[in-house]
Amino acid sequence: LKEQQMPKKFQEVKFLNYQKQKRILITGGAGFVGSHLVDYLMKQGHEVVVADNFFTGSKNNVRHWMGHQNFELISHDIVNPLYIEVDEIYHLASPASPIHYMYNPVKTIKTNTLGTINMLGLARRLGKKILIASTSEVYGDPDISHHPQAETYFGNVNPIGPRACYDEGKRVAETLSYAYAKQEKVDVRVARIFNTYGPRMHMNDGRVVGNFILQALKNEAITIYG
Ligand code: NAD
Ligand code: UDP
Repeated sequence: LKEQQMPKKFQEVKFLNYQKQKRILITGGAGFVGSHLVDYLMKQGHEVVVADNFFTGSKNNVRHWMGHQNFELISHDIVNPLYIEVDEIYHLASPASPIHYMYNPVKTIKTNTLGTINMLGLARRLGKKILIASTSEVYGDPDISHHPQAETYFGNVNPIGPRACYDEGKRVAETLSYAYAKQEKVDVRVARIFNTYGPRMHMNDGRVVGNFILQALKNEAITIYG
């Protein structure tokens, strides 16, 4: 038999009965962080729906679940509304590394503002919980050097600087989340993720830990300016 004709083998997933199994939407689920969340929730036995426009993500990151009865992949740009029925939402769609988010700053702003409004609107209509992926970059170029910065620190962001599309975009995403929580009683969670690294991150991510790992793998000197 040719490889394509052989029944596909999936990693084992737990069985959850219909009362326990949730249908979970992950925007940006074909990206680095999102695809690991897909793996985690799939293995827990949930139904996972990924909505992604593949700007920085790739089908390869979730290919190992394609064809699984609990998995669904939707090619969708989150700047546009999405009408779908789910029990929980993880909103991760946004380029994350400076190289990617500065490539098209206007699009980065739209993704983090309009895209976040759409997902909060979805959570509002459904009355379901939503997690928004924010970033340590909401602290901008922090005046306090203690790392990680505390949530009591409000940040130091230049609203017209080259990183503003992302930093301010995420700050508005946070503001929107708490406005929807207060005004519309949406159950929101905001996670300020600090630099993360691991399998499936982009080779051209450009951030320091990834650069060091890449230099080490290529047997090059480990240097910031290499
Ligand atoms: P990533 O670039 O690997 O993944 C982002 C995913 O979002 C990709 O699959 C991309 O195609 C998708 N996407 C982008 N714009 C979209 C749009 N308009 N519509 C639909 N999909 C879209 O990045 P990541 O590192 O996995 O980051 C995931 C989330 O975590 C992002 O919101 C990012 O801001 C946040 N975050 C990541 C880090 C980190 O160190 N990786 C740090 C802080 C915050
Ligand atoms: N929205 C969506 N899916 C839904 C419900 C809403 O994409 O299931 C979008 C829709 O585009 C809307 C936005 O979310 O514009 C905000 O929704 P909300 O109900 O908060 O505001 P309104 O519809 O009044 O603008």
